[in-house]
Amino acid sequence: MSLLSITDLHVQYDVPDGVVRAVDGVSFDIEPETIVGVLGESGCGKSTLSKSIVRALPDNGAIRSGEIRFDGRDLSTLNGEAVRQVRWDRIAYVPQSAMGSLDPVCTIEEQLVETITAHRPDTSRRECLDRAGEVLDLVGISPSRLSSYPHELSGGMRQRVLLAMSLLLEPDLIIADEPTTGLDVLIRDKILNDIEMYRDEFGISVLMVSHDIADLVETSDEMIVMYGGKIVEQGPAKTLFDEAVHPYTMGLRGSLPELHDDPEDLIEMKMEPPDLQSPPEGCRFVNKCPFVTEECTVDHPGFVEAKPGVESACYRATEASALREKATTVSW
Ligand code: ATP
Ligand code: MG
Repeated sequence: MSLLSITDLHVQYDVPDGVVRAVDGVSFDIEPETIVGVLGESGCGKSTLSKSIVRALPDNGAIRSGEIRFDGRDLSTLNGEAVRQVRWDRIAYVPQSAMGSLDPVCTIEEQLVETITAHRPDTSRRECLDRAGEVLDLVGISPSRLSSYPHELSGGMRQRVLLAMSLLLEPDLIIADEPTTGLDVLIRDKILNDIEMYRDEFGISVLMVSHDIADLVETSDEMIVMYGGKIVEQGPAKTLFDEAVHPYTMGLRGSLPELHDDPEDLIEMKMEPPDLQSPPEGCRFVNKCPFVTEECTVDHPGFVEAKPGVESACYRATEASALREKATTVSW
């Protein structure tokens, strides 16, 4: 049985002039001891997806339909208290821009101890301190930093403290929304290594959100590519990187500078997201895709298994290798 199984999830935000369909019919599974990367440009619904799993949506957001099964229970129908129990204990969530979410007037020790005692009130102070020191040590921060205040730590250290905090209660799943964004390359590498360690040493699954294909392909076992609130492609991360079937994934890969000898060859993805209040008829990618056909303008394509384990929502999935050739020269 999968650890997490999401089926046909629809999440919407109410706005004064209508409804934003931020997650629109998303289905995927996370197996135990697996890192799943969620890739996509700004505004495609990655954070909305992450927040809906732990029911951290803002007041104007709601799950409209679909199932979020975690270890057999449907989280989308549990009440707030029941979800709180699952959250942290079983699923730890590190939100986007989390560095600012540490309490500026409490030491790291106070915040780590409070997290443990809030969920395991019987834990002794000694045990809490030992565990707090242990998780800091795991992410490469000296336990002597327990007495520091957040402002005394660098941005990279604060992000690592949050990841350490997510380990405190030994969850089965960590959801990390953009854990490396804005950090320098050495800290980024350290964080990606830590995430692999969570899987390899503690058997934790990780749902890791990023808009950077390089981050995800390095670390993830599986990758989900989102565009305009929908999954357009999912499968083993390395296969999607090397042999993308969906033109959007081809474009994301093609925009990596290191793959091009001549910067003139660089394919730039236009970054403006599609309008999720009135999405285009047909495929969500229809207005950007260089390979669009008549069919694409009518209905959003269903998934086809273009190669073993790879599901792609593209009418031209069977032509993928020819399109990949063309994609290297296309102007996006
Ligand atoms: P980023 O990479 O910038 O973090 P994202 O992929 O995480 O983007 P989301 O934050 O999930 O995207 O947003 C998905 C869509 O929902 C966007 O169109 C966004 O403008 C919209 N949205 C997000 N939060 C709200 C809100 N509270 N009210 C209305 N619309 C929202
Ligand atoms: Mg986000």
